[in-house]
Order: sequence, then structure tokens, then C-alpha cells
Amino acid sequence: MKPPRKDKCDCGILDRWSNEPDHPVRFDPALNEYFIASKSGGKYQIYYCPFCGGATPESRRSSLFAHVTDKEQQRIYSLFSGISTERQVIDKFGRPDEERQVGAMVMHPEKDGKPARGEAFRTLVYKNLSTVADICFNISDGGRARGTWIQKHIGNQDGQPSPRPYGSPEAGSPSGQA
Ligand SMILES: [Zn+2]
Repeated sequence: MKPPRKDKCDCGILDRWSNEPDHPVRFDPALNEYFIASKSGGKYQIYYCPFCGGATPESRRSSLFAHVTDKEQQRIYSLFSGISTERQVIDKFGRPDEERQVGAMVMHPEKDGKPARGEAFRTLVYKNLSTVADICFNISDGGRARGTWIQKHIGNQDGQPSPRPYGSPEAGSPSGQA
């Protein structure tokens, strides 16, 4: 199914691609432009996003979070294989660096005449299994574990690390500067 076409690209795919080490889509920070790099050294500027059809962004927002490459994601998912219970998590990785009583919340909105409902999970957090992501296992009441990853916070543009608590609900959305 085709995604709906946008005026301005905000889908993030160019940013994501250009952060992949071997991807032909690159970003030139001096010119603030995305381009396709050919093996012979040619550069072809990208004016419209091939994914959503929107005009390419005026400026790339520098991310507050460490980039997790596709390769690293694959490696992380392979860590999750064979793990379905809290017991298995502890057996494989030892005690977590942090344990949150309500580490994740999932909200299912009202739909088709059924009421909205919410679920909270206890979360085991491991900070040293990846250099770019914290690895979190959400544990349900029955002790079932589900692996997730969250980008590590790398501070703002000035390089000043701002100690955002891991997994705060705003993680991933633009932080509101008051
Ligand atoms: Zn786009």
C-alpha cells in the first residue's frame, strides 16, 4: 500500500538512511542537503523524498539520541532469541542495572464498542549490552518477558549531556524547552 503523499517530508527515512554507514543516500551538513552518492564519486541531490513524496527537509534536526544501525538492531534482536520469561532474562544477562516498577505503559484506545484499557509493565533495564541502546525487558504479571531497545541519550548539540532519566515518557519526541 502506498503511503499518503506529503507536501513536506517528515517521515525521517532520509535521515535514517543517511545514518547507515553503507547507504547510498548521504547528507551534506555544510549544504544541508541529502544526496545520492554514486560509486564513481557523483552526487545527485534529492529534492523529494522517495518514500513519502514530500519535499526534502530544510534542515536536519540533530538527534539527541544515538543512532541504532540496522546491523545493531539485528544484533540486539538476536540477543532476544529464546527469551520469553523473566527467569530466562536473568539467567542470560544477570541482574539488571535498573528495575522499574512501572517501566512501560501500553494504552489500547476505545474501539468498535470496546472500552479503552491500559497495561503497565515492570521493566528490567540493561545498560551495557549495547553502546547505542539500553536493552529493556518488559515483564507482564505472568512473568512473561518482552525485549525492547531504546536509543541512548547523547546530549544536546553543545555536547552537554543532559541527564534525562531513561525511558521517560517523552523519550523519542521533541523535548519541550521551557
Ligand atoms: Zn519522507
